[in-house]
This record gives sequence, structure tokens and C-alpha cells, in this order.
Amino acid sequence: MNNGNRKVAIVTGASRGIGAAIASRLAADGMAVVVNYVGSAEEAETVISTIRAAGGVATAVRADVADPAAARRLFEEAEAAFGKVSVLVNNAGIMQPGLVPLADTSDALFDRLVAVNLKGTFNTLREAASRLGEGGRIVNFSSSTVGLTPPGYSAYVATKAGVEAMTNIFAKELRGRSITVNAVAPGPTATALFFNGKSQELIDHFTKAAPLERLGTPEDIAAAVAFLVGPDGAWINGQTLRANGGIV
Ligand code: NDP
Repeated sequence: MNNGNRKVAIVTGASRGIGAAIASRLAADGMAVVVNYVGSAEEAETVISTIRAAGGVATAVRADVADPAAARRLFEEAEAAFGKVSVLVNNAGIMQPGLVPLADTSDALFDRLVAVNLKGTFNTLREAASRLGEGGRIVNFSSSTVGLTPPGYSAYVATKAGVEAMTNIFAKELRGRSITVNAVAPGPTATALFFNGKSQELIDHFTKAAPLERLGTPEDIAAAVAFLVGPDGAWINGQTLRANGGIV
């Protein structure tokens, strides 16, 4: 596929929520975007149709980031479609439904959170190490819950704290290659992941928790990512940017 000399960006988990907004934003900013998803094929198709209708360039690739072979194939298919990848946004992630105290956390829930959020990020970072060229940009996804440490989030926060640590170390390991590695840590953002399993009371609580007194939107978070992967973000490296309306 001809990408018209656009920079190539992979956005993991881009069929819905924050990832879909990032894919649209980066396409609008002139990048050729690979929309990764795992189950929501129709939603991913809608995202790429919307991007194309607006004059952008995008394709969809199904891959479970928790699977190292699938993460490798994601890069191979991206390269086959558009050429060398220069931007990786590790947005794919899952969360427990509502609040689940550590004592009630099942092995299956713990293992899946680690597999997708932590190992999934590791899998694509390891691929990126050998595939991204000079000037590449990587944005991982943490969460402001790392700062808030709310009860009911222990396993999820543990995965995101791990992502923040890997972000900082990987930035150092890529020394000399002009590649930046940062993380974005959203606060409560209006997506299925946030609403799933929460009572109206809890949603109202989180909606008012930040001094700006609203939920974040996927577009708010996409703007932070666009800054980090765009020309104005060139000097930001090894950092976690909390995009949360001031909640922590
Ligand atoms: P959503 O649940 O709305 O969307 C999740 C996306 O990730 C979907 O596109 C889903 O694909 C994809 N995905 C899930 N598992 C995998 C997998 N194994 N491989 C590939 N893709 C996968 O979540 P959000 O948009 O809210 O969250 C995006 C990121 O932001 C996550 O990392 C989350 O932890 C983080 N975050 C979100 C906050 C919020 O309040 N919403 C707050 C703080 C952080 P499919 O549709 O195919 O299932």
C-alpha cells in the first residue's frame, strides 16, 4: 500500500476507546496508522473507514499483544503494508470490572492482567528494539491509579507500575538512537474500560474527583500522545505524563 511518505504508527488496542481516538488523531496529523485489535473486527473496520473518509491512511491488524508471536506478526504486517515503523503506541490494556479487592482477585484475573498489560507491552517493546529507526517514538500506557493507589485496583496498578519502570529503563537502553520512550497515564476517561462494572455512584465520584470536575475524553488522551510523538515532544524522554485533569 502506498503511504505517501507518511511516518508509520502502530496503535495497539485501537478498535475502541482511547486507542481509536489516538489512531484518528495520528492519521489526522499525517501518519499512516496500523489499527491493532484482538476481538472487535467490525469496530476496527469502522475506525479505518472513518480515517480513510477523512483523507487519512490506515489499515487494521488483528493480534493479541499478550502473544509474543502475534506481536512479531503485528510488526511484520505493518511493515508489509506501509514500510518501516517509526511510532509505537502501546495502548492495549484491560482492567478488572469495577473494584476487586486483592483478597478476591482470582488467579485467572491476575494472570490475564499481567499477560495483556505488562507482557503485552514488553512483547511489542522487544520487537520495537530491533525495528524502529533513528527518530522513533514509543508511548506506553500506564494509569493515574499508580499515583492514587485506590483500593480494588491492586493487580491492575501493579501491571501499570511495571510499565512505568520499563518505560524509563527502555529509554536508557535505546541511548544513541534518537528514540524517545515515554508513558501516558490517564485518569478516569469515558470508555467501556472505565464504566464496566461501576455503580452510578462510583462513576459520579470519579467524575468529580479531578479539580477540572469531569471525566477525561479519549480525545484528551490522544492529544497528549500526539504531543509526545510529534515534533514538539522531541525532548521528552523516559517520562510518565499524567493526563488526568489534576486528580493526582
Ligand atoms: P477500552 O476497553 O475502551 O479499549 C481497549 C482496547 O484494547 C480495545 O481496542 C481492545 O481491542 C484492545 N485490547 C484489549 N486486549 C488486547 C489484546 N490482548 N491485544 C490487542 N488489543 C487488545 O480501554 P481504554 O480505551 O479505556 O484503555 C486504553 C488504555 O488506557 C489501557 O491501557 C488502559 O489501561 C489505559 N487507561 C484507561 C483509563 C480509563 O479510565 N479509560 C484510565 C487509565 C488508563 P478489542 O476491541 O478487539 O477487544
